[in-house]
Amino acid sequence: MTAVRESQQQRRLLRPTSKVLPEHARAHNRSMVLQHLFHFGPHSRAELARATGLTRVTVSDLVGGLLAEGLVTELGLRAEGKPGKPGTPVGLRTDAFQIVAVDLADDERMHGAVLDVNGEVRERRSEAVRGRRGQEAVDALLALCQELVAAASCPVLGVGVGSPGVVDPEGTVVQAPNRDWYGVPLAAELGTALGLPVHVANDANTAALGEFTYGGASGGGLLVLTVGEGVGSGIVLDGALVQGHEHAAGELGHVTAVDERDDIDGAPLGRPQPCACGRSGCLETVLSVPAMRRRVEGLAPDAAAAALAAVGRRLGIVLAPVVSALNLSEVVVSGPKELLDGPLREAALAAIRERTMPVISSDLDLRMTSLGEDGALSGAAVLVLSGQLGVT
Ligand SMILES: [Zn+2]
Repeated sequence: MTAVRESQQQRRLLRPTSKVLPEHARAHNRSMVLQHLFHFGPHSRAELARATGLTRVTVSDLVGGLLAEGLVTELGLRAEGKPGKPGTPVGLRTDAFQIVAVDLADDERMHGAVLDVNGEVRERRSEAVRGRRGQEAVDALLALCQELVAAASCPVLGVGVGSPGVVDPEGTVVQAPNRDWYGVPLAAELGTALGLPVHVANDANTAALGEFTYGGASGGGLLVLTVGEGVGSGIVLDGALVQGHEHAAGELGHVTAVDERDDIDGAPLGRPQPCACGRSGCLETVLSVPAMRRRVEGLAPDAAAAALAAVGRRLGIVLAPVVSALNLSEVVVSGPKELLDGPLREAALAAIRERTMPVISSDLDLRMTSLGEDGALSGAAVLVLSGQLGVT
């Protein structure tokens, strides 16, 4: 048996049988309490006990710890003061800390922000990439993070980074060719230099987390497609980000979408174009923003709409088996609205419906993100909330 197969088997066996240590149980209970306060607002200890299924003694103990840490505060006596239901409401202190987030998806600029617990951007800073790659790009990112930490108006809980490429759960960038990062332990390196917890994930995955937590996602299975210089996607199923076998789940940009041999729709997209990955006809070669801008340049509105619909149809063909296999309830698209929200989006949804069973796609929602450009930034903040507090 190969080492990989062996470790896979161990993983399958270990997960259900590994011991739950007392400190793990405490961390789990603590995050249940924080999670409830984050999503449903202030509650008394008794209400928290009922909502979480924990005993009142356990909840009082946990709340005592959270008060001491300064993460929650007591909000005075309840106005109605119903007899038999006393208790001071306890709420998350939204002014207790801030989060630093950086989005590296853009090839031209690194975009950073200081956000509060509610995902609101308080400060923004950015730094031109200026062609910096490898260690130079890491140094530029560190300088931007230092600037953001200095700009925060209260203690920083941690730093979240959305990076292009494949990123493992420890925050090591396995490969990000356009940054020349291969096996770069970004989270560890930044964490040591900043003296703060740092969490790094793929930028499409952070966009998916942002949508899930702050973008009004239904929670019934979500795919967020990010369209920019490249094309990526992040998937949230049953409340958790899908990582995949090699941490590369959601890599749809390099699925072949235009093939020499097929002329399903009379080949309106032309011959397959070479892709940065070395192959040709990848989804990215027709759906990336530069590719779409080239395609519609100088066209009359009708012709431009038809060209974008042809791209949308290819997108739908690529998405149909994914939507079907995962029985997703929502596909959320992030990128320039003038290209994506119209004939392209409609054609993609029509192609998915045409190619899947009604039970799969009749209720499927394919919409633009409600978070605008800040989706990946708020998602990077969620990485920190989830990593440090267990809140998503
Ligand atoms: Zn490719």
